[in-house]
Formats: sequence, C-alpha cells, structure tokens
Amino acid sequence: MNVLKYLVIGSVCMMLTGVSAAANEAAKEPAKEREAAGVTAEPPAAPAEHDQPQSTKKGKKGGKKSSSAAKHEIDQLDTEDTIKRIIGDGHEATPKKKAARKKKAAHGAAHGAPAAAHGGAALDGEEAVRRLMEGNRRYVAGKNSAAHRTAQRRAEVAKGQHPYAIIVGCSDSRVPPEILFDEGLGDLFVIRSAGNVVDDIAIGSMEYAVEHLGVQLIMVLGHERCGAVDATLKGGEVSGKLSSVIEAIKPAVEKAKAKGQVSHSCDLLCSSVKGNARMVAEKIKKSSPLLTDAIESGMLRVVGGYYELESGLVSLTYKPVL
Ligand SMILES: [Zn+2]
Repeated sequence: MNVLKYLVIGSVCMMLTGVSAAANEAAKEPAKEREAAGVTAEPPAAPAEHDQPQSTKKGKKGGKKSSSAAKHEIDQLDTEDTIKRIIGDGHEATPKKKAARKKKAAHGAAHGAPAAAHGGAALDGEEAVRRLMEGNRRYVAGKNSAAHRTAQRRAEVAKGQHPYAIIVGCSDSRVPPEILFDEGLGDLFVIRSAGNVVDDIAIGSMEYAVEHLGVQLIMVLGHERCGAVDATLKGGEVSGKLSSVIEAIKPAVEKAKAKGQVSHSCDLLCSSVKGNARMVAEKIKKSSPLLTDAIESGMLRVVGGYYELESGLVSLTYKPVL
C-alpha cells in the first residue's frame, strides 16, 4: 500500500516538474520573440516611489532636466525595485507562499486544471506584475512586440485560454489594457467600466478567471484625468444610470477630499483616481469569499495601477494589504 502511495506521489511530482518546465518555456517564449524584435527584456535599475508617477519622480531626482531628457529616461526606469516593494512579501514569507502555490499547481496538474493541461504560462502574482510592467515599458518606448497578435497565436489560443492577469480598467477609449501592456490574444482577462468600478457581475467574472483559469493577479487600473472620477469630483446632476457610476466612485472622492494631501505631481483628481482604485480593490476582496480565500492563501494578489495619458507609463500605486 505504502509503495503504491509513493508511486502516486512520485508521478505527481514528475507531472509538476513537467508542468513547471512547460510554464517556464511558455513564459520565455514571448521574451525570445521580443529579443528577436530587438527589445530588451530587463530594464536597467533606478528607484521608484509609491503614489507618484515614476517619470515625474525620476526627473526630479536628477535635478533640472528637459522634458525630452525625462522622456528619454522613461524606458530606463526599473520595475524591479517597485515590484519588490509593492508586491514583495518580505524574504521569509515569499518562499512559503511560493511553496503553497506549487502545491496548488501540483493539485491542478493532477486534476487537469486548464492552465496546466494546456501548458499555459500560470504566472504567480509577482511574475505577472513583472510581465505587465515590462510590456508597458516596451509600449512607452515605442518598442511594442505585438508577439501575440498573429494568426499563429490566434490558432494557439483557440484551443483554450490561459490569461496571466485580470485587469479591471476604465472604459475610456485611451486606456486599452492589451495595447498599453503590449500584450495580445489570450494574455489578459479584462473587465472595463467607466471609472473602473465593479459590481457583482464583474466580481463573478473575476471569480471565474481565478477559479477556472488559474489567474493569480488582479490589477485595478485607474488613469490620469479619468472623466468618471472628475465628474464625481465636480458634483452636479447626472442623468440615467450614470448616477450609479458616480455613486460608486463617490466614497473614494470624499476620502481624498478629506485627506487633502495633494502634491504638485498628484492633484486632487489624481489622488481620487488612485483612491478609487484602492477602494475597488478592497471591494473585490470584501465581496467575494472565494477571492478572499485565494488572497489569504497567497494564491492571488491585488494591486493598483495608474496610467499616464501622455507618457503611456503605468506605475504601481500602493502596497495593498490584499
Ligand atoms: Zn476613466
């Protein structure tokens, strides 16, 4: 009986190793394609700070710089420090949670979970943030790879989808996640609404992506000069169902007003947008026991992002407790 048990465990381990190797290969694949397109995968190092668009910060640190020099530096920004600071758990907790994820991956492989069964990327939260930020830096630098927008990719994902991140973004036509993260078919599971607010249907959609597609990251993405947040800030009458959007955003705006901490790089509208993203992230957690369990077991991360309309830069906006 014991021999049989070890044989079974051994098989699962072998499957896990295979899945893990396949996942690594899958993750490397786009990088190879990008290398071929002359795009560097790892941006060089430079510090970044919370709650402040990185381009502005970097420009100030270096003293007086022309806007073209600041723009030139955009693709020099490091995402590593930011990712570690925003999403890192500390050195002790990370291996533990990684072990928990591996355990779940093994379980998924044994039970034919979709991502494992189709050799999907199955990136963990930290890897997923890194991939998003690297894609955004390519987009900012005008070096889009568009590797996953080909007929070959279409055929590949027709067999099944394995997105590596959920993006909760604004419906604003200037903020399309696949473009600004330089991704393509089958990469992102996207939920959009004016002001990136969520209701039960949106949260149910996220539950599906986490439970059935194995997605381990949710990014709530606010953006510069968001019209929905601005309308909430200005107050006044709105007609029809638009009032539901305004009502959903209002608590974040009120909080930002009460806080009153605005800097010259982030005015009241900017801090309201960031506060709204955080409030939405908290609502996602509170409204769904399934997502709460996934977050608490280290299987799911929720982060906030802020998109600058002119530079195209996405910065991570807060360290979530989620
Ligand atoms: Zn918007």
